Amino acid sequence: MSELHFDVVGAEGPKRYFSALTPERLAHAYLFTGPAGVGKKTFARRLAQSLLCTAPKEGVLGYDGTCASCKLFGAESARHPDFLEHEGALKIGDPDAAMGFHEGDGLSSRDIVRQLSMQSYSGGLRVLLLGDIDFATPAAANALLKFLEEPPRGVVMVLTTAAPGRVLPTIRSRAVEICFSRLSNAEVRDVLDRLQVEGSDADLAASLSGGSVGRALATLEGEEESLRTHVVRWFFESVGGKSPESSWATRETLDEGLETIKTLVRDWIVASGGDGVALVSIDSAERLRTLKPIEPGAAVAQIASTAARSSGSLSGARR
Ligand SMILES: [Zn+2]
Repeated sequence: MSELHFDVVGAEGPKRYFSALTPERLAHAYLFTGPAGVGKKTFARRLAQSLLCTAPKEGVLGYDGTCASCKLFGAESARHPDFLEHEGALKIGDPDAAMGFHEGDGLSSRDIVRQLSMQSYSGGLRVLLLGDIDFATPAAANALLKFLEEPPRGVVMVLTTAAPGRVLPTIRSRAVEICFSRLSNAEVRDVLDRLQVEGSDADLAASLSGGSVGRALATLEGEEESLRTHVVRWFFESVGGKSPESSWATRETLDEGLETIKTLVRDWIVASGGDGVALVSIDSAERLRTLKPIEPGAAVAQIASTAARSSGSLSGARR
């Protein structure tokens, strides 16, 4: 019997859940929920490959990577005729359109219903992955809902979302919900390794990722760099006793900015303790170590008083 793989970092809970399933007990729809960038779609693709792999196995997880079916799940995009994948907002589709199968972003609710109502290509299961599920129109949602109410045999649907509250309750109630949690920084680093992102940049991105590979990649691409640069400057100026300019703080950036401040305060306290606990903001480690050692309560009080001073000067300026 060939060796089986299931190459997914983290996701221990979902792995345990699917490892305990037999093919007979598979549901027809799963909703993968959890923060963005933690590997929900990757898990769904590996699950699809497992379900379509022809290697003999007792459960549902695992693929040999060598059978004809596995070969259609290439490194980049899967082209297995029994695997349909779509990401983001789903349109209703043209009722008379020709079958737009595996042709870029053309997949619509109607395409899905048409495709999945036909016989499977290989005589086994057919798997549908709707990543970051969203519907362009109510009609698109209704078409899929009708399908979910009476799915044909042998179809497994996996929907993923970071915002389960936005998924229609009627759709949510028809799927088995599987929760994904944040990765550890070491797991994020492991994924970056596999993506061949190396060096000190990758260490920093993993450290600042908050357990999301997506966020680590955004850091690496510099998308979050400018906000972070502003907030780090604000932090060091404020703990240095100045009243720094806080124009980085807008409704859109506040959550992200406060997250950075939280991490910096935590690191300041850790650096003060000197008990060898690792710093998160490794790009600011040297500056943090030059700060006056501080107790947790005093650190929070100082940040709060700076924040009060800067908001005072801001509202003063507006008047
Ligand atoms: Zn295989």
